[in-house]
Amino acid sequence: MNYNIAVVPGDGIGPEVVSETIGVLDKVGEKFGHTFTYQYVLAGGAAIDETGRCLPDETVEICKNSDAVLLGAVGGPKWDSLPGDERPERALLGLRKALGLFANLRPAMVFDELADASPLKPEIIEGGLDIAVVRELTGGIYFGKKGTVASTDLGPAAYDVEQYAEEEVRRIAKVAFDMAMKRNRKVTSVDKANVLESSRLWRRVVAEVAKDYPEVELENFYVDNAAMQLVRNPKQFDVIVTSNIFGDILSDEASQITGSIGMLPSASLAKGNFGMYEPVHGSAPDIAGRDLANPIATILSAAMMLRYTFGLGEEADAVESAVKRFLSEGYRTPDIAAGKASVGTKEAGRLIADMI
Ligand code: NAD
Repeated sequence: MNYNIAVVPGDGIGPEVVSETIGVLDKVGEKFGHTFTYQYVLAGGAAIDETGRCLPDETVEICKNSDAVLLGAVGGPKWDSLPGDERPERALLGLRKALGLFANLRPAMVFDELADASPLKPEIIEGGLDIAVVRELTGGIYFGKKGTVASTDLGPAAYDVEQYAEEEVRRIAKVAFDMAMKRNRKVTSVDKANVLESSRLWRRVVAEVAKDYPEVELENFYVDNAAMQLVRNPKQFDVIVTSNIFGDILSDEASQITGSIGMLPSASLAKGNFGMYEPVHGSAPDIAGRDLANPIATILSAAMMLRYTFGLGEEADAVESAVKRFLSEGYRTPDIAAGKASVGTKEAGRLIADMI
């Protein structure tokens, strides 16, 4: 089977980590009898330098016509003085919008071998940790009505409206339940239904969707409790589903539990199986071009692409197992080596590909 992947290497360490990830995908193709066809496109600073725009129309077209998008990272000091609308990071918002990416998925995994990097006590994360945070990405307070009021009893004021339509909640809930079916069959929906009307709608619609997934356990947490439980007893979670603003905060909290930014993958999903896959980290200009970047976050993002867009679970398992083997055999990139011996970006990519 052939899969078409639009590849956006981007800026800084983006091209370095993407290149190693392509090596891993090619190895998967070889082993399992698939072909991956790559179309390289420009976005971010690289696109500004080449075309004057951070997201050329051609990039959007090619991404739309592909089966999935793999992105490195965009941005860097070279473009920091540009106005907000013209900065490389704008390309991400543009892509999300153009591709209809309404669900953001971030797994927070702690590998046993890297348990020391977590800020939590060893007994809390013993045996490893694997949580997926599913965040609604295109609705809620970030996109609701907003404005300022020139005068109130307490002086000038401003407001932002949190609004969710039933269909917006239904489609994100489905993503979470489908994901739970491929994982440990538990969904925790996070809201503030004791206070917010929009949360009461959220909770009702999630409960309706749950009826179609009798094998999946559903529990509801208020966001304050969820934030507390994430550091108190994170192992109780499998899939967390929540609104844009709560997800923004909780996914950062969950990822910090893992302690290593170079290891964290993410996916942004659209209707159907289409998705854009990228590491959580940025373009790391401080280490760019020096063979120091950890390619694992991007490699694990490609594993998510195999699992969620292409439906290739066995192949995704093979990539994740290779990463685990790389770590258990004692290999480390500088960011996770704690000052001990380490391998460079290229060597790490080659070793992981060889371990597929
Ligand atoms: P960053 O994630 O790029 O870097 C933060 C720190 O983590 C740096 O010290 C960096 O060296 C280290 N780091 C990050 N990824 C690493 C990896 N794979 N291996 C080893 N070390 C790694 O965040 P920042 O410094 O705040 O941002 C740098 C640029 O990236 C900015 O222009 C920012 O706007 C952009 N950015 C882009 C994205 C994206 O493309 N999705 C996300 C965040 C930031």
